Amino acid sequence: MITFYPGPSKVYPQVEKYLSDAYQSGILSVNHRSEPFMALLKKTIDLMKAKLDIPADYEVYFCSSATECWEIIAQSLVASKSLHIYNGAFGEKWLEYTQKLKPAASGLSFDSNALPAIADIISDRENEVICLTHNETSNGTALPFEVFAELRKQTEQVIAVDATSSMAGVEFPWEDADVWYASVQKCFGLPAGLSVFIASPRAVRLAERIADRDYYNSFLFVRDNFLKYQTPYTPNALGIYLVGRVMEQVPPLAEVSDQTRLRASAWYTFLEENGYTVLVENPEVRSDTVIAVTGTRERVAFLKKAAKENGIMLGNGYGAWKETTFRIANFPAITQQEIDLLKKCLKDNSYSRE
Ligand SMILES: *Cc1c(COP(=O)(O)O)cnc(C)c1O
Repeated sequence: MITFYPGPSKVYPQVEKYLSDAYQSGILSVNHRSEPFMALLKKTIDLMKAKLDIPADYEVYFCSSATECWEIIAQSLVASKSLHIYNGAFGEKWLEYTQKLKPAASGLSFDSNALPAIADIISDRENEVICLTHNETSNGTALPFEVFAELRKQTEQVIAVDATSSMAGVEFPWEDADVWYASVQKCFGLPAGLSVFIASPRAVRLAERIADRDYYNSFLFVRDNFLKYQTPYTPNALGIYLVGRVMEQVPPLAEVSDQTRLRASAWYTFLEENGYTVLVENPEVRSDTVIAVTGTRERVAFLKKAAKENGIMLGNGYGAWKETTFRIANFPAITQQEIDLLKKCLKDNSYSRE
C-alpha cells in the first residue's frame, strides 16, 4: 500500500536496512550514560544541525512527541501566560494542553484563508511566549515566513513554533523564532516515537529566568543532560539512531525544500485542472507539505475507496473536516512515481470522467 497519510506517514525504504544495522551495531543494548551512546547522540545532533542548516547557537534536544513539546513549553517557558495563534485543530489543542497547566494562557484564532494580525499578536507584552503553528496539518494551511520575520522585528517576546508537519520538508528562517519542534513521523520519513526540540539562546534565557525544574522533562533538566550528550531518562536510542542515518542519507535541506515546493505547486495546479477543490482558497496560505482537498461526504468516500482499490491510502480529513476532506502528504520520502500513480487515480476518477 502506498500511503499519503500525513502522519504516521511513509517511512524511507532505507529504514528497513537501518533497523537491522541498529541491531547489529549493538547500540540498542548500550547504557545511555556510556561513551558509545554519547558519541551517537553528538553525531546525530551535529548531522541534523548541518543538514537542516540550524544556527550554531541553537540547541537540539530529542523528546518523545510533539505533544510532549507542548507540555515542556507550558511548564518551563511560561510562568503565567502564553498566546496561541491558531486556525485549526492542532494549534487549538496546543492551547488547550497549555491551559491545563497555565490557565491564563489565551488563544487568538484567525480565518484559515487569512493571515493573523501582527498588531493583535503583540498587543499584550506580558505573554511570555507567542505560540504559532507553522503548518496546520488539519486543514492544509501554512503561515508565510513573512509573519515570523515581522513578529521578530516587532517584539522581544519568545516565539515558539509547532513545525511538526513541515520541519525537514521545507527550509525555515530559524532565527525568526526561538523554539521549533517536530515529531519525526512526518517530513523526516521515520517511525513515530521521537521528537526534535530546537531552542535559541533567547529561549534558554527565558527558561533560566523561570527556573522550572519540577518535572522529569523540565526544559532545564533536559538541557543539562543534552549538554553532556545524555538524556534525562532512558531514551529512544533506536529512534535517535534512525534519525541520524536518515540525516546522513538526505540531501541538504535547501535541495529538499526546492523539491517540496515544486511538487506542491504541481499538486495545486493538477487539482485545479482536474476539477478538485482545494480546501484553502487563498494560495498565499496553502501548505507545501500537507494538501487538503474538499468535497461532499459521498464524493470523498468514493475517492478514498477508489484510491484504496489502486493500492493507495489517502489521508482522512481531520477534526471538523473529517468526512468532507481528504489529505495528501507531500513529504520528502514519497517518490515522484508514487505521486504520479495517485495523480492518475485522481484523474481517472475526476468529475469530468464520471
Ligand atoms: C502530528 C502533529 C502533532 C502531534 O504529534 P505527536 O507526535 O503525535 O505528538 C502536533 N502538531 C502538529 C501540527 C501535528 O501535525
